[in-house]
Amino acid sequence: MSKICVGVLGATGMVGQRYIHLLENHPWFEVTYVAASPRSAGKPYKEAVANRWLIGSDIPQGVADLTVYDAGDVSSAKGKCSFVFSALEMDKEAIKALESSYAAFGIPVVSNASANRWTQDVPMLIPEINSSHIDIIASQQKKRGWDKGFIVVKPNCSLQTYMMPLYSLIKAGYPVKRMIITTLQAVSGAGYPGVSSFDMIDNIIPYIGGEEEKTEKECLKILGNVSGEKIVDASFPLVSSTCTRVPVIDGHTACVNLEFDLAENKKPSLEEIEKIFTSFKSVPQELKLPSAPDHPIVVRREENRPQPRRDRDVEKGMASVVGRLRKCNIFDVKFVALSHNTKRGAALGGILNAELLKAKGFFDKLV
Ligand code: NAP
Repeated sequence: MSKICVGVLGATGMVGQRYIHLLENHPWFEVTYVAASPRSAGKPYKEAVANRWLIGSDIPQGVADLTVYDAGDVSSAKGKCSFVFSALEMDKEAIKALESSYAAFGIPVVSNASANRWTQDVPMLIPEINSSHIDIIASQQKKRGWDKGFIVVKPNCSLQTYMMPLYSLIKAGYPVKRMIITTLQAVSGAGYPGVSSFDMIDNIIPYIGGEEEKTEKECLKILGNVSGEKIVDASFPLVSSTCTRVPVIDGHTACVNLEFDLAENKKPSLEEIEKIFTSFKSVPQELKLPSAPDHPIVVRREENRPQPRRDRDVEKGMASVVGRLRKCNIFDVKFVALSHNTKRGAALGGILNAELLKAKGFFDKLV
């Protein structure tokens, strides 16, 4: 099978570099186009990332000598790739306009940026939870007069830690009414160079701009339903969050307290919850997508797990690792969840979205 040619917008950044690394030897996709800011445009990729290549292995040979294009010059992608991953860091409106230009040009966009997360006809995908939201793509294309192009996005990186455990409970028939989420987020979530070392070493920053709003709202769209030309948000759970930045390189942690919307005698026991978590499988596993984890939720019983350094790469960095599952004195249960923010939370999550689209035939007419 010949591979599908793909582009990476923002290829020189922290998430873009992850895409370049993770797409090396991908069974379905091959990177043939890289784009970034005018600062990098015109240079060979290896020169554009010289002194700021952040991955612990060499730049893939197939990409090192590709010329970096200005992502703002949409026509430069023509004939070079069938769809693009977007890992741009720019003003939100500028990203929105640029992603729309690619889609209008006939190039689908699988985005990591937050700009289009609230666009009502753009699905915000975690394939284990809401793969059916891709049904909205037909009406997105029709409404905007796009033929082949479309946009899908993925949610904020911190949500990946606890959304699959939450959804697995809801799917098993245990609706959740309220949640309190406290995140401890890695520095790589702020891009490179991100927060200064002087601020971060020996310290915790108790605020990440815009993050608490995303934590409190995005889960409702993910759990929502396609209705006509838009995705209608779920009404529950209500979420209250505190988001902090901690001196960890990779791996976001979330402390979760949740309350079920059920009478006391209908609530699941801790044993039942653990069983639901460990047996959870969904569409990516059924479709055997190349980047799908065999076990999307991994439960650790040791009292000192999960830990970022020990658990972030479980299941190729695609699992939600849950530990410290216990009773809550105020709500019903509490646990600690962890996921790799630049793998599941960014590039590999984006690749899983693209694999879902490919498996569902969305790229058939492009190759
Ligand atoms: P980053 O390291 O700052 O990289 C930003 C990229 O955007 C670079 O390739 C940069 O190119 C390019 N860029 C900046 N200004 C541009 C312009 N005017 N025109 C075209 N390209 C421009 O950021 P990041 O951490 O990789 O994040 C990328 C996106 O992913 C963001 O939208 C972020 O919110 C999202 N995200 C990040 C994470 C994470 O864990 N880091 C997780 C989920 C989602 P130059 O190198 O040429 O400047």
